[in-house]
Amino acid sequence: MREFQYSRASDLAEAGRLAKGGAARFIAGGTNLLDLMKLEVETPEALVDITRLPLKTIEETADGGLRIGALVPNADLAADPRIAENYPVLSRALLAGASGQLRNKASTGGNLLQRTRCYYFYDTTTPCNKREPGSGCGAIGGFNRIHAILGASDKCIATHPSDMAVAMRALDAVVETMKGDGSAREIALGEFYRLPGDTPEIENVLEPGELITAVRLPVPIGGVHMYRKVRDRASYAFALVSVAAVVKTDGGKITDARLAFGGLAHMPWRDAAVERALVGEAPTTATFQKAADVLLAEAKGQGENDFKIPLARRTLIAVLRDVTEGAGR
Ligand SMILES: Cc1cc2nc3c(=O)[nH]c(=O)nc-3n(C[C@H](O)[C@H](O)[C@H](O)COP(=O)(O)OP(=O)(O)OC[C@H]3O[C@@H](n4cnc5c(N)ncnc54)[C@H](O)[C@@H]3O)c2cc1C
Ligand code: SF4
Repeated sequence: MREFQYSRASDLAEAGRLAKGGAARFIAGGTNLLDLMKLEVETPEALVDITRLPLKTIEETADGGLRIGALVPNADLAADPRIAENYPVLSRALLAGASGQLRNKASTGGNLLQRTRCYYFYDTTTPCNKREPGSGCGAIGGFNRIHAILGASDKCIATHPSDMAVAMRALDAVVETMKGDGSAREIALGEFYRLPGDTPEIENVLEPGELITAVRLPVPIGGVHMYRKVRDRASYAFALVSVAAVVKTDGGKITDARLAFGGLAHMPWRDAAVERALVGEAPTTATFQKAADVLLAEAKGQGENDFKIPLARRTLIAVLRDVTEGAGR
C-alpha cells in the first residue's frame, strides 16, 4: 500500500473543501476502497474520512417516500421496518449481499460506488482498460465467467457487483449529491451509471469531489416484491445473475412490472421494453418467454460466460412465475 494523507471531515462543507476537487477520495466503510488500495489498484494521495458526517438517518419525505442517508449501513437499511415492509425487494437484495460483518460496515453511498469484481481489474500484472486506460482488456478472450452479456464494449466487459443498486434501480431511486462547490443535485439512478464504451474507467456521472449525501426512494408502490440472486455459493458470493422484481396484477393481467437485473452488465440493467412486453398481458409462460426474448435479444456471450444467457432467461421466467402466483393463470 502506498502512503496517503488522512483527514476527517466534521461537516459537509469541510468534506467538500478537503476533497480538493477530487484530488482526495472519500472513505466510508472502507470495505472496497481499502482492498483496492492494498492491491495498489487505487492509489489516492489523500483520503477524507466521511464517517462523522450527519448522513446516518432514514427519514420520511414530504411525498411519503424515504430519504436514506449515504452513511446508513447496509445492515441497518435492510432491517429498517419501513424498508422491510414497503420496499422488501431492497431489504432482500441487501441481505443477499456480502456477510453480516461487511453489511455492518458497508454504507449506502459506498455500495453504489463499489467497483467491479473482474479478476483482471484486481491483478495489476495484467492489462485492464478500466484500471489503466489503453492497456487492453484481459477478460476479453481470457477468464470471463462472471462478465457481462449486455451493454459491454470491445474495451471492457465488466459487470457492476452491487445487489442493493439493482433493487434501487427497480424502485426508481434518486441519488442526492453535493458537488465540490457546495451545490446540491439529484440524479435518477437510471441516469447515474455509464456503460463502458471507450472509457470504462468512467463508471458514473459524478464529478470529481462530488459527495453522495442520500438516496431517495419514491412513495411505496405496493405489488409483489422479489429479489432472486443466482450465485456459485449460497452466501458470500457475487451474483452471476440477479433479478429485482416489483409486479402488480389485477383481473388476471399484469398491470405494472418493474424489473432490474444484476450480473449482466456494467450497471444495474433495466429495459423498459421488457416491462412493456408484460404489462396488459396474462401471466402465462408464453408472456414470460416473450419478455425474456426482449431482454436477451442483444445478449452476447464471451465464451466462458455464455451460460449466463440461458441462466438469465430461466431466472427471469421463474421470478415472473413466482411473483404472479395465484393471479389467475
Ligand atoms: C468479501 C466481500 C464480499 C462482498 N459481497 C458483496 C455482495 O455479495 N453483494 C454486494 O452488493 N456487495 C458485496 N460486497 C461489496 C460491499 O457491499 C461494498 O464493499 C460496500 O458496499 C462498499 O461500501 P463502503 O462504505 O465500505 O465503501 P468504501 O469502500 O468506503 O468506498 C467505496 C467507494 O465509494 C466512494 N464513496 C464512499 N462513500 C461515498 C459518498 N458518500 N460519496 C461519494 N463517494 C463515496 C469511495 O471513495 C470509494 O470509491 C462485498 C465485499 C467484500 C469485501
Ligand atoms: S473487463 Fe473491464 S475491468 Fe475487466 S479486464 Fe477488461 S477492462 Fe478491465
